[in-house]
Amino acid sequence: MKLTFLGTAAAEGVPAVFCNCPTCLRAKQRGGKDIRTRSQILIDGDTLFDFPMDTYLHMLRYKLDLSKITRVLITHAHMDHCYPQEFCMRGGPFAHDMTEPRVTVYCNSTVRDMFMADTAREIRDEVKSGIELKTVEPYDSVMSGDVKLIALPASHTVGEKCLVYYVERRGVGALLMNDTGPLSEDVFVRLKSMGAKADIAALDCTYGAIRHGTGRHMGLYDIVDQYALMNKVGILSSDARVIATHLSHNTDLDYDGIAAAARPYGITVAYDGMTVEKIAK
Ligand SMILES: [Zn+2]
Ligand SMILES: [Zn+2]
Ligand SMILES: [Zn+2]
Repeated sequence: MKLTFLGTAAAEGVPAVFCNCPTCLRAKQRGGKDIRTRSQILIDGDTLFDFPMDTYLHMLRYKLDLSKITRVLITHAHMDHCYPQEFCMRGGPFAHDMTEPRVTVYCNSTVRDMFMADTAREIRDEVKSGIELKTVEPYDSVMSGDVKLIALPASHTVGEKCLVYYVERRGVGALLMNDTGPLSEDVFVRLKSMGAKADIAALDCTYGAIRHGTGRHMGLYDIVDQYALMNKVGILSSDARVIATHLSHNTDLDYDGIAAAARPYGITVAYDGMTVEKIAK
């Protein structure tokens, strides 16, 4: 399984869209790994984890054929994870010679309702017919072609069943956890009982190199705690890669600083364009 971190920022981006804080000004000057677009992960060239407004930028930057994507996993209805209007362009006069005629979007019921409302004004029937919305609930386990998906309950927006996902293909598992605060031991125990073993775990690091403890996002030291908890429960493989992603500008540290803080704990800090590949043993 190959993951490409197309974007690794929280909602506002780094530098943030309207911000002049020191972190954002430095990011603009330094460029490189300090520029973060909205979070999205490409899995094996045919699957997207989340669909932010920066998807078009990701297509340009990484020269992607987005018509190859046959499944999209949406975590929740925040705009940096779900920009449904773009799907109106998937067919008809807006897209010719597409590689795959159909795409399946996995999401919760809030995202499904938002998707239908936000596309209703502009989507053409022939475009709509190529998009299947599949609603999933926490702890649903779904086979999608040769990909096994397990939806898990995120700790994020009150009133929405926000999701994170475990994705498994050809004996390799990835646990993709943004946006969420720390998950409880129960969640990991239940995931393990469903046969999950993660070789890659990518976790929310919105707050940078701090411990937040609870709430709807995490910092680096929450990831350290989650890493220990996942090991205790036994849902990580022995050489699992644990990755911090979805970082915001609300941290004093640039990429180099956060990466240095994370290194002693065996945690990798993601940057835009980073790839991670694991093959089954
Ligand atoms: Zn987010
Ligand atoms: Zn800023
Ligand atoms: Zn969110």
